[in-house]
Amino acid sequence: PGAGPTTPPAGRGGPGVPGPGGRPAPGRGGPPGKRRRKKEKERRPEEHQFDLQPRQRRDEPLATDVQRVDVLHGVTVDELAKKLDLSGAALVKKLFQMGEMVTVQQSLPDDTVEILCDELDVEVRFVTEEELEFGVEQPDREEDLAPRPPVVTVMGHVDHGKTLLLDAIREADVVSGEAGGITQHIGAYQVRHGPVGAGAGPGGDGRLITFIDTPGHQAFTAMRARGAQITDIAVLVVAANDGVMPQTVEAINHAKAAEVPIVVAINKMDLPDADPDKVKGQLTEYGLIAEDYGGTTAMVEVSAKSKQGLDDLLEILLLQADIMELKANPRKRARGRVVEAHLDKGRGPVATVLVQAGTLEVGAVVVAGVADGKVRAMFDENGNPMQSAVPSRPVQVLGWNDVPEAGDEFRVVGEERLARDVAERRAERARRKELVEQQRPKTLEDLAAEVERGEVAALNLIIKGDVSGSVEALEDALTKLEIPEVEVRVVHKGVGAVTANDVALAEASDATIVAFNVRPDANARDAIDRSGVDLRSYRIIYEAIEDIERAVKGMLAPEFQEVTLGEAEVREIFRVPRAGFVFGAMVTNGEIRRGGRVRVVREGVVVAEDRIASLRRFKDDVRDVSAGYECGIGLDRFQDVKVGDLFEVFEQREVQRV
Ligand code: GDP
Repeated sequence: PGAGPTTPPAGRGGPGVPGPGGRPAPGRGGPPGKRRRKKEKERRPEEHQFDLQPRQRRDEPLATDVQRVDVLHGVTVDELAKKLDLSGAALVKKLFQMGEMVTVQQSLPDDTVEILCDELDVEVRFVTEEELEFGVEQPDREEDLAPRPPVVTVMGHVDHGKTLLLDAIREADVVSGEAGGITQHIGAYQVRHGPVGAGAGPGGDGRLITFIDTPGHQAFTAMRARGAQITDIAVLVVAANDGVMPQTVEAINHAKAAEVPIVVAINKMDLPDADPDKVKGQLTEYGLIAEDYGGTTAMVEVSAKSKQGLDDLLEILLLQADIMELKANPRKRARGRVVEAHLDKGRGPVATVLVQAGTLEVGAVVVAGVADGKVRAMFDENGNPMQSAVPSRPVQVLGWNDVPEAGDEFRVVGEERLARDVAERRAERARRKELVEQQRPKTLEDLAAEVERGEVAALNLIIKGDVSGSVEALEDALTKLEIPEVEVRVVHKGVGAVTANDVALAEASDATIVAFNVRPDANARDAIDRSGVDLRSYRIIYEAIEDIERAVKGMLAPEFQEVTLGEAEVREIFRVPRAGFVFGAMVTNGEIRRGGRVRVVREGVVVAEDRIASLRRFKDDVRDVSAGYECGIGLDRFQDVKVGDLFEVFEQREVQRV
């Protein structure tokens, strides 16, 4: 398939697209003198679509009353014409006179747009999609900027104490204790540290620090991958007994790539084998040199368990924040990022947002990704209602029409209609993108259909298994299938988890992946989602053979597609008298449901399939637990679970065959 068309810049094609930014700001900072001023009153954007008649008589030179336009790079003739309040045909003609042969749908190079606008005496500005949708933001005036609390993310190797540290800091916070609210994990929280000396914070009642409550750098990188930089400071947790471990190094690299300063918390200082000097020595290898070693990296010795050193850590974070002079303008429409979002059964879509600029108020019209809404209510991390939220404040927001995604930018906009339009346009863009992506590789169903239609076909397979014996047995059996029209080819086989390389190969060779007792790793899963490669998991050899035989005979039974509902990582194992084992796990993805079918995966290999018999949060039985929360999980039969195992909860859904 040749070079596919690149997705056009958004905002294209829809009439009436220009937001406030598409209209010149009357009277403000406009170029003096030569521009015509008489038509201060702009035509409203929605009139454009009904007014495509040329506005000048045949022989008059082309002219427009528009003084300024904001356009995307690669604007089409048609779009530009609308913005200039001219007909597409008139513009085509004008361009023809300028020596450019174009059609109305054609996209124009920037210099052509510039020359054309120059000729028409129109000021042109190239803007981003965001700016086109919401208008070009005025830079903040120095006097409007106010100090804001730092936003801190906790990173580090698994089990080095990130979660406990986050909990300890939160528990130690006087304010949340006093508020009497119920502690809720909403993805972020704020603590007040103090009292600080005279002149520090208003009323001397300490200063605020915002913590992102989803430990681990997955959250950090996922945000960054989406262009969302919300973290000001990274706390690198290193266990004083373990020292630097692989994920410690990963975390350092992520923070460095994001140019986020690192404060090191050397944790578990209460343990007898704690060796902070060893940790400091190790960290020098990665360019983190402690102050007492002559460097500049702040390192604090703490214990999340005994709570020693927590005050020092908070103090250092505030010092670091002072150095950074973090500021934001609270006096404008709020803007920020979605930290976490889910659909709540009682309250509808709920999103925790971090306000990065402006002040968010109840009643404000908001848009985030494909979701829009009007803030119905806001709550802090203790469940207390809030009326407004200033920069660096995380709040849980109710009132969305849809569930936004973590990492989405949210904005307050002036009108509900604009919010709705923007959200709909984004959804439409996403749908279009999906359509393009649906030109996916062949699946077993496609093959079955081909066979049914009598088209000769070959079946390419990639076989991955937990042991070489089963891989070979499968290969042997599958290639020996006696089916006249179909040739079964094994393009690749191997032992171990399905990797992104396997998926790439499958995509390139139109192959189906047969996974026997193994699962795709995280990268492979992403690649599968993106490419639509067909992956079939089996635990019993003859089932695999039967399934594929049926496919190549063109009589595939009703198809069940497997949907992963959620994943949890086992962190701790408890033995409960009479009840057997309970596995303390962190839900890393989606949702874990009581009664759900679960696969226990250890280093990419499926060690068991079972059912979730019990699910608890703290002491309560619950029906489901969503990503970012810890829970206790009991399994029906399988008990030989190890720390680090992955619980993958899945469901089989019958797929309508087309
Ligand atoms: P994470 O994977 O980094 O989030 O680590 P956790 O916060 O889940 O902690 C892993 C284990 O280390 C848990 O059993 C904690 O109770 C324990 N732990 C965390 N911090 C400390 C500490 O300061 N001292 C001791 N002794 N144990 C700790």
